[in-house]
Amino acid sequence: MEEQQETLGSQCELPLKSIAKHDEWDNWQWQMRKRIVSAASLQNYLHLDSRRIAEMTLVEERFRTAITPYYLSLANPDDPNDPILRQALPETRELQMADYGKADPLSEEDDMPVPGLTHRYEDRALLVVTNACAMFCRHCTRKRIWHASDANVGETSISKMINYIRRTPSIRDVILSGGDPFTLPTWRLEHILKRLRAIPHVEIIRIGTRTPVTVPMRIDKELCEVLDRYGPIWVNTQFNHPNEITEEAAAAVDRLIRHGVCVNNQSVLLRGINDDPEIIKSLCRKLVRAKVRPYYLFQCDQVEGVEHFRTRVSKGIEIMESLRGHTTGFSIPTFVVDGPEGTGKIPVMPNYLISQSEQMSVLRNYEGVIVGYRESGERIETQNHRTSGGVSAILSGQMSAITPYESRRMIRRRLRATGTGL
Ligand SMILES: *Cc1c(COP(=O)(O)O)cnc(C)c1O
Ligand code: SF4
Repeated sequence: MEEQQETLGSQCELPLKSIAKHDEWDNWQWQMRKRIVSAASLQNYLHLDSRRIAEMTLVEERFRTAITPYYLSLANPDDPNDPILRQALPETRELQMADYGKADPLSEEDDMPVPGLTHRYEDRALLVVTNACAMFCRHCTRKRIWHASDANVGETSISKMINYIRRTPSIRDVILSGGDPFTLPTWRLEHILKRLRAIPHVEIIRIGTRTPVTVPMRIDKELCEVLDRYGPIWVNTQFNHPNEITEEAAAAVDRLIRHGVCVNNQSVLLRGINDDPEIIKSLCRKLVRAKVRPYYLFQCDQVEGVEHFRTRVSKGIEIMESLRGHTTGFSIPTFVVDGPEGTGKIPVMPNYLISQSEQMSVLRNYEGVIVGYRESGERIETQNHRTSGGVSAILSGQMSAITPYESRRMIRRRLRATGTGL
């Protein structure tokens, strides 16, 4: 952190919009062409000293850089811990800690019947249809596919993947991933969607894309019309921080929704970026305001070059504790650990089940109230012997709940009872 503090100056600005003429800024191809693809060229926008540039250039030999002018314009260049910069700028720790992680931490390649298609779960398949992305996120799980050239999943490979789906009737949900499928030219994407739609057992098509975050102008009229034609389509996007939900991003989501696309969000829990209950709560609230359903919060995978972003699993549990009961139920994602050895997504959450007997389950709620829940058809006979209290008193029917006296809800109840407030 300290290293960055000295290198990012305090008086620099981001004159990014001024590099665009007329309506160029709103043209996604212009944004792609003008991507910042080296630390050296970042100097034009950020105040970086030569040591930092040398360090970043070294990292780029292994893990490339690409940042759209739009995404960079969201950053506060004065803040070395800015969540936008942290997700976009290479840093030395990617190399220092690279050995901790794996190239393919989810063993996706072990579940590939044909190259590029992971068939892990019976009824769904995940297809890497391109290696290109608008931005290379420093925390990406598929850093291994960031090759030198951007368009290297050929038509033959894609046809092989589609043929596999055609001859595998158990697959009813197809996930287009990458890389970022929305970096493909619209006509190529349409060609893929058209062939998938022609397969009777393919019920839904999902597309994983970060373009609403990194280049929202990509969600243009032409693309929306194609998506509308081949629905039902679900788009999963990846907003990780409230600062990413801009007017432009919300408008891009709105265009998708108006073309019949359902939009869900998959965030990654990232140390120093969003590993904080208040940040995630604010992110989730902003997402539902933008009509995006928070779907997953991912534990950061054990990827090479990503170790410095990983939190403990306990951080995710702590965040889930702060959400359930404290905010709109449908704005709460499921926290999942994508397990090693291809074990897949494993949901993890705080414990709400405290104890059980045949007649009774003892649960606790978000306030810490511990309450007995009678099982069906059971009558709870209060036992005569005195228990020593606590949870066992609930199990034996001597108490119905243990309630923290000072919970806000109980205070509201007391005030209502005494007529002193609502
Ligand atoms: C995440 C993933 C899916 C989809 O899982 P859902 O829980 O249905 O969202 C499918 N295949 C692979 C290989 C995945 O990693
Ligand atoms: S957009 Fe997705 S695939 Fe591309 S670099 Fe970011 S996380 Fe990785």
